[in-house]
Amino acid sequence: CADLAMYEAKQRGKNQLYFYQTELTEKILRRREIEEALKHANYDQEFYLVYQAQVANHSQQISAETLIRWQHPILGNIRPDQFIGIAEDTKQILKLGQWILEKAFTQTYQWNQKSATPVHLSVNISPIQFHEPTFVDCILEIQRKTQVNPQHITLELTEGILISNIEDALTKIKALAQLGYQLSIDDFGTGYSSLSYFQKLPIHELKIDQSFVKHLPGSEEDIAIIETIIQLAKSKNLTIVAEGVETEAQVDFFKAHQSAILMQGYFFSHPETAQEFEKQFLTL
Ligand code: C2E
Ligand code: MG
Ligand code: MG
Ligand code: MG
Repeated sequence: CADLAMYEAKQRGKNQLYFYQTELTEKILRRREIEEALKHANYDQEFYLVYQAQVANHSQQISAETLIRWQHPILGNIRPDQFIGIAEDTKQILKLGQWILEKAFTQTYQWNQKSATPVHLSVNISPIQFHEPTFVDCILEIQRKTQVNPQHITLELTEGILISNIEDALTKIKALAQLGYQLSIDDFGTGYSSLSYFQKLPIHELKIDQSFVKHLPGSEEDIAIIETIIQLAKSKNLTIVAEGVETEAQVDFFKAHQSAILMQGYFFSHPETAQEFEKQFLTL
């Protein structure tokens, strides 16, 4: 007579495999769906930018990060985490990235036309977009077209950009800084870039990834990491942006530091539409 427990274990194994396969199939189907939707998207009707305030601890400046949103007519709201990677794999990000830059530069120009204090916007740049040979020319062309002042723009790069091709990164970052753009390293601390790169790079800002902010002020380990980043920024005269600031205790933690720190997170504001951001943050 066979061991009943063995039958059961076998069945459980089969079930697990079944679940795994359906999950995988669903993932592949979802991916195809998004790929197709991206290919056929009507950008002006489906995509829009939202703006999340960055609040300075020591100045009155108005800054925000621009973030893309996608409202598809059938699939509904699709989050950037779900489609940016696919857009990168299929190179759709080149077209989308250009659209984002045009929108963000236009908005920056328009807000600065009517605002009493300068409005500063930061734009996320995909590594695929950045490593295109025409990237700097493309920025220049959009700058001319939109009449934006580069000093009102921060370009957010990721550590991946620095690692994959440091020579290309160096040349482009120098050119962009020369044109007057501010350069920021997004999700700082999550990549593997060597600190020695920073000696060579004319960057202006480090964005502390929200994974380090999340457990503040309770986590000694995260405090140690953040203190190190703040020290590094101070020694190089860089601005710090703290991402994902959600609680008053986190605000107090950053305010206690005598450095230029911008705080960004749900404590102050969620990403808002242009209209809403204008109402809440612009001084006309
Ligand atoms: P990111 O650039 O690091 O953006 C920060 C993300 O954190 C945003 O998510 C923002 O909505 C979210 N966030 C802000 N404050 C808080 C907070 O207090 N708590 C928590 N838990 N989250 C907060 P979002 O908009 O979903 O974007 C996710 C990622 O997608 C971005 O990470 C960026 O890598 C990418 N992305 C978004 N917009 C663009 C874009 O226009 N171009 C490119 N290339 N990538 C983009
Ligand atoms: Mg960003
Ligand atoms: Mg970030
Ligand atoms: Mg992040």
